[in-house]
Amino acid sequence: AESWQTVPLAPPDSIFKLTAAYKVDKFDKKINLGVGAYRDNDNKPWVLPVVKKANELLLSNPNIDHEYLPITGLPEFTSAAAKLILGSDSPAIKEGRVSSVQTISGTGANHLGALFVSRFYSWGGDKEVFLSDPTWVNHHAIFKNVGVTPKTYPYYDPATIGLDYDGLMASLNSAPPRSIYLLHACAHNPTGVDPTKEQWAKIADLMLEKGHYAFFDCAYQGFASGDLEGDAWAVREFVRRGVSLLVCQSFAKNAGLYGERVGALHVVSPTQETGARVTSQLSVLQRSEISNPPTYGARIVSLILNDPALFEEWKRDIVTMAGRIIEMRKQLHHLLTVELKTPGNWDHIVNQIGMFSFTGINPEQSKALTEKAHVYLTVNGRISMAGLNTHNIRYFAESLDQTVR
Ligand code: PMP
Repeated sequence: AESWQTVPLAPPDSIFKLTAAYKVDKFDKKINLGVGAYRDNDNKPWVLPVVKKANELLLSNPNIDHEYLPITGLPEFTSAAAKLILGSDSPAIKEGRVSSVQTISGTGANHLGALFVSRFYSWGGDKEVFLSDPTWVNHHAIFKNVGVTPKTYPYYDPATIGLDYDGLMASLNSAPPRSIYLLHACAHNPTGVDPTKEQWAKIADLMLEKGHYAFFDCAYQGFASGDLEGDAWAVREFVRRGVSLLVCQSFAKNAGLYGERVGALHVVSPTQETGARVTSQLSVLQRSEISNPPTYGARIVSLILNDPALFEEWKRDIVTMAGRIIEMRKQLHHLLTVELKTPGNWDHIVNQIGMFSFTGINPEQSKALTEKAHVYLTVNGRISMAGLNTHNIRYFAESLDQTVR
């Protein structure tokens, strides 16, 4: 009988290991810049005021029950979510060629999307997906799990601490026609480096020319710039230009609903008739994976998206979060360049976008920051800007300054 004697011990997840080490650290100035979750200026998790309101509405509704949702999720949630990312006047939605399925947050959307392409993409050759180098580490595991081999395309250039645009374009050019490229819709994790609008347009044109498929992952809509519309620009532009695509959507960060696992997968098809077939197959896959998605978070987001007053309030809450992060970028940049005169160029701190910043420090320096200064960050030098606040930013800047001198 199988007794699992040969099961190898897996390493712990690096981010969660970091948080565990931070928790047992007794140093009073310790800082956790590892995990990508928003914190307020007092380093506390933030329940969005609009979510509190929606929650009260939900709890006071006597008609709420605990029945199963449809397999593809709460219809008023998925349709509003599609409009949020594709635009309220999206021709693709109007023409009825968007298949939207409620998923277990962004991770579940990536998984269902990966499973769908694994099963139904008309693969010319090997099943493979091109991921940015680097990317959210889970992307690799998610595609491997469904039998799609992850390949990488150049993305981050350590020399400029910016986008390796030429490398990216060269990859799009040389990849087999009709390759699948995973693109971060905005606020690239882990680098904080996004293409400019001009670059996005050229990427779209080349993908169209080569017949590549865009697998968009959108985990930070609104978080990047504070503007939901602006952060959806790339996805909408790709749809407008006719690039074949799907989008994975998460409400973990922009609604602060991390643990509630609210997300959606939207597959844009060329025609309504194709879309209907895509929806039918997504339903079959979803049924075997989770049967029905969970109700609570989808109801909360649905209330917010479908009520004009709540929607306006949500936008203000997003500005609060994105604004605080942008302010931390400015303060850190000022401390390093003006006050401490830290060697090197730190403009990337203010040029990068979203929750994360690639500081450009090497693994030895990252480890030294953790060991000597009790600042917890991943060894690739990525910091979560949300872990900085007006109380700890000076200590962080001074520690970083000492590390790189
Ligand atoms: N994609 C990217 C790029 C992410 O950074 C994250 C969150 N770290 C996700 C997807 C998924 O997050 P969740 O499942 O919590 O929505």
